Amino acid sequence: ESLINRIAAGEIIHRPASALKELLENCLDAGATSIRVTVKDGGMKLLQIQDNGCGIRRADLPILAERFTTSKLSTFSDLSRITTYGFRGEALASISHVAHLSVVTKTKTETCAWKAHYLDGALVEPKPGQTAEPKPCAGNDGTTIIIENLFYNTPTRLSALRSASEEYSRILDVITKYAVHNPKVSFTCKKTGSPSPDLSTPSSSDVPQAIRLLYGHSIAKDLLHASFGSKKKADGDEDMEVDESEVQADGESWTADAHFTNPNYQSKKMLFLLFINRLISYRLVESSRMKRALEAVYSGVLPKGASPFIYLSLQINPRDVDVNVHPTKKEVHFLNEDSITDQIADTLQQSLASQMS
Ligand code: ADP
Ligand code: MG
Repeated sequence: ESLINRIAAGEIIHRPASALKELLENCLDAGATSIRVTVKDGGMKLLQIQDNGCGIRRADLPILAERFTTSKLSTFSDLSRITTYGFRGEALASISHVAHLSVVTKTKTETCAWKAHYLDGALVEPKPGQTAEPKPCAGNDGTTIIIENLFYNTPTRLSALRSASEEYSRILDVITKYAVHNPKVSFTCKKTGSPSPDLSTPSSSDVPQAIRLLYGHSIAKDLLHASFGSKKKADGDEDMEVDESEVQADGESWTADAHFTNPNYQSKKMLFLLFINRLISYRLVESSRMKRALEAVYSGVLPKGASPFIYLSLQINPRDVDVNVHPTKKEVHFLNEDSITDQIADTLQQSLASQMS
């Protein structure tokens, strides 16, 4: 049984960056405004993520790493559909099957923090002979998740990883994208022992500012903006081209917000950040259908070999996400995908065309 669990966990957690992505989403779900990541050896030795979110109650700690432990469902009726879109209490459980997992956490009402260790889905004793229960300790409000020795028991996963520096750059890449999408949250990432972070974002900027901070001025100075549906435009977005259209598909409305480069910006590789809402925070996903459609729009205005930067935040009814797609697969499918994709592509096309004329 433990081998099966290990294999299943490996399907969800492919590499340090995929573990980190799950943990980042948990921090954001918990309402964190500050997220600090510490990494050793590309995340293989240590992946630590500290947030100032709501914390986990002491009473919930014993079952935290059991499969299907989730605090995010109780208020929703259509559990079976929604649980297929990432709320299934599988991330921490999976991690505990392929790594040593520790948690330090404190809610506002608790007088001290609690520390707990997990292995193979269960709370374990910190040292042989001690009882398996959370131990009181000092700590701030919020949660620190510590993952050590990732894939220590799954050599095939471990050998599929790249060098520590490459795994680290994938970690930075994931954090960078979530930082763009969550400009009000401050993120830092550093290697253990390093005095200064490799990535550090202040809070309280907006998405274009975050793009400038994280991806550089060359992208930011050439950004256009479009919003779809009823989503309110952000104030202070001067020199942004705005196109709006109210979009209704089968009575289900959707909204989207896009920041995308004008034809002056030309990159070798297309950068496409696609976020789709879940119940609480948004999830970074991939849609090759959407990517191809938007790439095609740009192929009309950019020279051959040149590619754009596109950030797209899409808000749809969670019920419309394809139930046949496993939540941990990055590729996403949703109802009216073709029509939504076409409308977004059309708007970008018009916006780019007006730049050219
Ligand atoms: P899910 O996110 O699908 O609920 P996870 O395995 O990712 O499942 O997390 C299990 C539960 O642990 C969450 O539902 C949440 O209650 C709690 N949790 C995990 N990480 C955090 C965190 N950083 N802050 C607060 N609670 C957390
Ligand atoms: Mg989660």
